[in-house]
Amino acid sequence: MYNAKVLSGSPIDTHVTAKLDQIAQCLIDWQQKHGRHHLPWQHQSAYHVWISEIMLQQTQVATVVPFYNRFIQRFPDVDTLAHAALDEVLVYWAGLGYYSRANHIHKAAQLIISDFQSRLPQSIEALQSLPGIGRSTAGAILSLGYQQSAPILDGNVKRMLARLFEISEPLNSSRTMKQLWQLSESITPHHQCHIFTQATMDLGATVCTKKAPHCQQCPINHHCLSHKHNSVDTIPVKPVTIKKTPLNYYLIFIKSHCKKRILMKKRALGGIWGGLYCPLIFEDPSEQQAWLEEHKEQLLHITALGEHRHQLTHKRLYLSSQLVTLDKSLSDHLESEFTGFNDASEIATPKPIATILRNIYEQTQDCLLPET
Ligand code: SF4
Repeated sequence: MYNAKVLSGSPIDTHVTAKLDQIAQCLIDWQQKHGRHHLPWQHQSAYHVWISEIMLQQTQVATVVPFYNRFIQRFPDVDTLAHAALDEVLVYWAGLGYYSRANHIHKAAQLIISDFQSRLPQSIEALQSLPGIGRSTAGAILSLGYQQSAPILDGNVKRMLARLFEISEPLNSSRTMKQLWQLSESITPHHQCHIFTQATMDLGATVCTKKAPHCQQCPINHHCLSHKHNSVDTIPVKPVTIKKTPLNYYLIFIKSHCKKRILMKKRALGGIWGGLYCPLIFEDPSEQQAWLEEHKEQLLHITALGEHRHQLTHKRLYLSSQLVTLDKSLSDHLESEFTGFNDASEIATPKPIATILRNIYEQTQDCLLPET
């Protein structure tokens, strides 16, 4: 087993390095026999690896696969992606959440065209210069896309290393992250790195799982300190949780008069839901009331839709919505600055807005008729 130096942030000594080589080889052998070999982005180009890695941030494989397939069918290469309108990219991203990721890949695709001759660069530094690509994603692109030796440190690898070396500090501390990167660099082999990288991803997804890991089937259990000391259930140590702050928004969904569509407006880039279509959004209930008061002569119906709750990473959203139907004069006026939609599926819109829209659509099918 390992000495305390591994956990202290000191340079890793040769005894431990030899152990890490053995562990890496165990993982490579295991991946070839028991790992996943049929994920749609495997054995593809660096472009495919990049798109999958961005989609997989904060999102499970099973959720990502249909989005990935649809996305790649429409944007099969970096040129197609770079030349597409951001609006269309957002439509293909709608439902995955974290829309800044879609903004970043679109911007990065344009930079790859202009600065890197339409090929994803092959160095960590150049990859990290692109929007949305951090050190771990850059490592995955180099390893899986270009078969170079490069460490990664995604959630699966962090968990596996923390258990393997029984790291008893929360993973989000900068000291622990430094240790984990050091371990990841040391364990990453020079040869067959792409198989090793895939092995760590596969082990984390299927064996060293967050809950109830299958230690008996683990190819490296004889090296694992947490397994040896029976501390697997307590590692990784939970990070100190930040209390989610509540955020209230007051929405007005506008139904047009004659074409019976919901009118939405694209929000400016930057800030919450930038680049996505949304109804009118107010931060204060008095602003929502003031809009209703100002237009009361031109509103045919007002329906209170109640409160919809939605969790963001650090915030809890409370959305209080009203649905209004306009008379012809205001409808014609607003149609010039808003875009009308018949249902939620055709819009690049945030998930909670899509949920409310679907409810509106279900409840008012009789009047939200497709445009003729
Ligand atoms: S032995 Fe268990 S805890 Fe240790 S790496 Fe394997 S699956 Fe994870």
